[in-house]
Amino acid sequence: MIRFAALSFVFLLFLTCNTVYFDDSEFYQLISSDNRSGADFNNIARISLTLDNAQIPSGISSRILNNVSNPAFNNELNFIIQNVDRNFWILVDKENALSRDYTPSDLVQLENSSFRVNRNDLFLRRIAATSLEEMSIAAMTEGLTILVSSAYRSFTSQEQIYTRNVNQMGRQAADRVSARAGHSQHQLGLVVDFGSITNAFAQTREGRWIAANASRFGWSLSYPDGYENVTGYSYESWHYRYVGKEVAAFIDKYFDGIQQYALRFLHEYQKLN
Ligand SMILES: [Zn+2]
Repeated sequence: MIRFAALSFVFLLFLTCNTVYFDDSEFYQLISSDNRSGADFNNIARISLTLDNAQIPSGISSRILNNVSNPAFNNELNFIIQNVDRNFWILVDKENALSRDYTPSDLVQLENSSFRVNRNDLFLRRIAATSLEEMSIAAMTEGLTILVSSAYRSFTSQEQIYTRNVNQMGRQAADRVSARAGHSQHQLGLVVDFGSITNAFAQTREGRWIAANASRFGWSLSYPDGYENVTGYSYESWHYRYVGKEVAAFIDKYFDGIQQYALRFLHEYQKLN
């Protein structure tokens, strides 16, 4: 709110300076004929408020505010809001859940191909499966085989997993490692758990390759190391969400690769529109 107040103050100064040169009617004519200044101000105010509402850290926020008049930032943002499948960037976290009856309509079964599956009951949305195939082919050219260990998870299976974890380890520990029903990104049909589903994966050649290359295929690490207080989850080096190439690039370029920040920003931005 401090930034928003500061911006309002700057705008008031702008008003004051202008009224030195124009009487009121001329000024309002100027504002209405020069849409650009008004639109720019509205945009800056909206982005600033969004950054506050999304609780984006100050380092990232000031970089974005420096970019806010840059057409590239606004074009990328508007493209995502208007053209990218909303399920690629919808916020699904501890606070925001999918409904019990949300099931993707285009799930396809994964089979051994350029990647390997460790079970025969794994499903992904078609676009994520296609992207996974492309990424795996690229990995193969470097002698690596990607192993898919988990993918789509229905609301019902989340209920079963969470209940089992609560029974085994108690509610608090269960919340650190598993989602309450509806709160798992896996329900989107856009998420893969790779390899061993342990953080030993991060040290494998495949884990390092995926960490370095996933985003250019549209995949993003959901729960990075050191961000448990942001994401609500301890580090999961194996859990990647397909967000599409545009959103993946947006996350890397403006949000230091932290998916939760970017999706929270998009979530709050949309609420203001
Ligand atoms: Zn996962």
